[in-house]
Amino acid sequence: MMAKQKPAPKIKPLVAGNWKMNGVGKQLGEVKKLVTVLSRQKPKADVMICPPVTLLSRMVALKPKGVALGGQDCHANVDGAHTGDVSADMLKEAGAKAVILGHSERRADHGESDKAVRAKVGAAQRSGLTAIMCVGESLKQRKAGETLKVVQAQLRGSLPDKCNAKNTVIAYEPVWAIGSGLTPTVEQVAQVHGALRKALVRRFGDEGAKMRILYGGSVKPSNADELMAVPHVNGALVGGASLTAKDFYGILKAYL
Ligand code: PEP
Repeated sequence: MMAKQKPAPKIKPLVAGNWKMNGVGKQLGEVKKLVTVLSRQKPKADVMICPPVTLLSRMVALKPKGVALGGQDCHANVDGAHTGDVSADMLKEAGAKAVILGHSERRADHGESDKAVRAKVGAAQRSGLTAIMCVGESLKQRKAGETLKVVQAQLRGSLPDKCNAKNTVIAYEPVWAIGSGLTPTVEQVAQVHGALRKALVRRFGDEGAKMRILYGGSVKPSNADELMAVPHVNGALVGGASLTAKDFYGILKAYL
């Protein structure tokens, strides 16, 4: 007799805004605007903003209803002589619920290897933060047909063994799509997300089946419906379009 297939678990999407190195005090107004629009019509998705660390406590102080807050990076160590760095405990104490790790800009600008990202993911999880771990291929790698090999290797190398659906979120962000206005086709997104799901289930079992896999790279209001409808896309990681409440909410509308 054929084994009965388990139905795919229902996964609540997450739409997270990555403000990168953008935003000073006056941009806090965008968070207030976002809270106002969310209070009128709430999408069926978790909403998060990851501001620069200088704005984190100020955003927390706004008590933004319906918007969780996160960091953009953390050190792998709990404390010590690491000038300019911030630990996962510090983010947690400041009010972060999650932290983006292994973003391609950090991998490129700061030479972060999979091993370094894995250590940070472990540190974030031990502090009670959800690690939003990013993978993605360069244009050269895509053109060479290496996309799946690259993202699977990043996934394998950048996640420690104790990952579950609560402490880990994956973000697939093709490097060439970030900030470029270019996006992969829905077929390309489906192929990568399908492969990531398989790899997560193989390694983490039921937890891997429930883990959120976000798509990131030039998501905007005009393409969000299409991208968010792709199988195994469980939300978005949004850069530029998360900086204004109007655009960010325009993306969230995909989940109304
Ligand atoms: C990002 O860098 O995480 C990102 C998705 O950027 P953008 O939406 O601006 O392409």
